[in-house]
Amino acid sequence: MKDLYLSDISPKDKPWDKKRAQTDLIQEIYRNTEFHPKFEQMSGCGQELVFALVADDLGEVSFKLQSARFCRVRHCPQCQWRRSLKLVGRFLKALPNIQGDYPTARFIFLTLTVKNPRTEDLRETLEWMNKAWTRVTQRKQFPALGWIKSVEVTCSKSEPGMSHPHFHVLIMVPAGYFGSAGGYLSQDKWVELWRKSLRVEYQPSVHVRSVKPKKGSEMSAAIVETLKYGVKPEEAINDPLWLLELTRQLHNTRAIAVGGVLRRYLSEEEPQDLININEQEDEAEPVTEEKFKFGWRQQVKRYVYKKPVEQLEQETNS
Ligand SMILES: [Zn+2]
Repeated sequence: MKDLYLSDISPKDKPWDKKRAQTDLIQEIYRNTEFHPKFEQMSGCGQELVFALVADDLGEVSFKLQSARFCRVRHCPQCQWRRSLKLVGRFLKALPNIQGDYPTARFIFLTLTVKNPRTEDLRETLEWMNKAWTRVTQRKQFPALGWIKSVEVTCSKSEPGMSHPHFHVLIMVPAGYFGSAGGYLSQDKWVELWRKSLRVEYQPSVHVRSVKPKKGSEMSAAIVETLKYGVKPEEAINDPLWLLELTRQLHNTRAIAVGGVLRRYLSEEEPQDLININEQEDEAEPVTEEKFKFGWRQQVKRYVYKKPVEQLEQETNS
């Protein structure tokens, strides 16, 4: 029988191949370094995926992950991808409740940066940025009812040895914020607020964008942007030394923080369950008892269908 690949049978599950292939590359960077245990953990990550068939409301049948073992190493691309999906899923699940309790609230999306530090100074820089963020939230001009913040670090292409840490913050503001007496902050005022809180002389770069309240797609895009993984796997793969230093610097630092009223709806805890990520899917009942097992085949960078053991036995006996 010809090999059957997951991405051919279920095109929506294509990302698994890409993510697991990236995990292969990152784990190799950790091999025989101080992070060798991460190499070992990552080697076992998602080697086998077991799916059930579920049907949606319209009767459309698709694969739903039933079991898998994930390594949970912070920079494992496969785990990061699952984690990000999970966090987005959590937020989207909470959103109707938030909007129910604050029907007129609006959201703005903020990106806060600082002058690029040396990668070796990243830990210290992030501590300082976090302190500055706390100061921002304590100022009386700060308009938020609630916020959720994530840390992203990219490598600086033009300056070797330097990194570009920044915060993405999704801020919920009262409806009146955009009105005349609502305390609206222009881009310049945000820069000033961030500059004072950082206690620096230069003008740090700040991007502000309001999220169209009626546009569900814009809201989801802003949520995805906020909760996407903090380090791009492609960058880490391209620059092994950068990844190793980053791993040292980011060790035990927090990736996500939630403040204000959003704390009532969202947890900043690391998701433990990386299997069930989609509410709708999770409630769907499997349409058959049968489970579909796929194994990672490193040589071709694809998940391949594994025949159930019983079937193999039958074939060898016949
Ligand atoms: Zn993993």
